[in-house]
Amino acid sequence: MTSSPQINAQRLLQRIADFASIGATQAGGVNRQALSVEDRAARRLLAELAFARGFNVYQDAIANLFISRAGRDPSLPPVLIGSHLDSQPTGGRFDGALGTLSAFEVLEALQDAGVVTERSVEMVSWTNEEGSRFSPGCMGSMAFVGVGDIAGWRDTRGTDGTRLGDELAATLKALPEAKMQPVGHAVSSFVEVHIEQGPVLERAGIPIGLVTSVQGTRWLEVSFIGEAAHAGTTPLEFRKDPMAAAVAAIAQLQLVVMPADPMARLTVGRMSVEPSSVNVIPSKVTFTIDIRHPSKELLSSIEARIDAECRTSAKRHMVDVLIEKRFDLAPGKFDTTVVDVIDSACERLCVPNMKIVSGAFHDALFVSRVAPTAMIFVPCRDGISHNEAEFVTSENIETGAKVLLETALSLARGAMTSYFPSARRPRHLPMSKRAVRKARS
Ligand SMILES: [Zn+2]
Repeated sequence: MTSSPQINAQRLLQRIADFASIGATQAGGVNRQALSVEDRAARRLLAELAFARGFNVYQDAIANLFISRAGRDPSLPPVLIGSHLDSQPTGGRFDGALGTLSAFEVLEALQDAGVVTERSVEMVSWTNEEGSRFSPGCMGSMAFVGVGDIAGWRDTRGTDGTRLGDELAATLKALPEAKMQPVGHAVSSFVEVHIEQGPVLERAGIPIGLVTSVQGTRWLEVSFIGEAAHAGTTPLEFRKDPMAAAVAAIAQLQLVVMPADPMARLTVGRMSVEPSSVNVIPSKVTFTIDIRHPSKELLSSIEARIDAECRTSAKRHMVDVLIEKRFDLAPGKFDTTVVDVIDSACERLCVPNMKIVSGAFHDALFVSRVAPTAMIFVPCRDGISHNEAEFVTSENIETGAKVLLETALSLARGAMTSYFPSARRPRHLPMSKRAVRKARS
């Protein structure tokens, strides 16, 4: 007997609490870093829940975990939904887990109601989205779309000194019941629910964000190189002080970049000083700059501005400067058809929503390279994320899951198969040496 599928909010809230207990921290957050013992425990719990419901469970060589509920026509590529289960070392209980467990709730709701979808509905928990233990982040989704280099990543060392290849093998081995499948398969579309990780939705009092695009990110490393000298005996005209140059450049950039453009983001997050002694003028000051913008052209103009300001400051302070690009992720646009499907789902459910640009990058950005993709954002309190205090209201959790269910039904329903008659298969192109270096840095 079939009935209209319903999200079981109590069950979803309990699942979120259950998973938050795996790697729980004293302050109410989660430390469940990628491929750790805690990550393995979370994967095991999810797989056990899936087996109990009779779903198919499989994983690939980078430990992406898939759970599939079969549709009527197995020849059609499935609708994919999901997110990630790994966390930052002092992460919150919703970043990633919300989207992953909402996706599982959708599968359960379909199963409870006995609904037969045309396409299979499949959920995924991507491996190492956060990149906090092993760099880079989004390894699972990168590998899935063929821009990752699993062989090259194996020798990557984690922040705890472990080797990725060893931790990956142990993670795969910890779930022997899950069938292995090749990395990357055709999917008809992908939808990821995620907390906004910013204040826009909460401030607007709107429960759902339709994510239309993800801003681009570039990471630069700037080194000012001067000359170590005695702090007490070296007069101003003899100083080649890289700290003076660095603070002047940073202050100038803070004055000009963000105030001129509300979409621009510029962050100096890490700084190191050599030799780092109280009474020595430093020989070298190195710092990182993270810049973000939805426009590739404007990202480039910010980068040019950084270059110019750093060179001007270096000249003024008689030091050298070296600027290296460490990471470059182009802005991404999500598929307008999928955004429209989510929009219609909200309309049918009478859920207020707004279009929004994602400030953070997500697995969905990579998946959008091979399949029509979009994201559903749910507000989090005060926009706080990557923080143990991360919080989402029960009401918003339920709304996000309902919109995901309605969206997945549309995308998987027979009448909707005409959306994406021929899903593109991921192309596994060999990675250039430069791309590998970039991915590893
Ligand atoms: Zn996340």
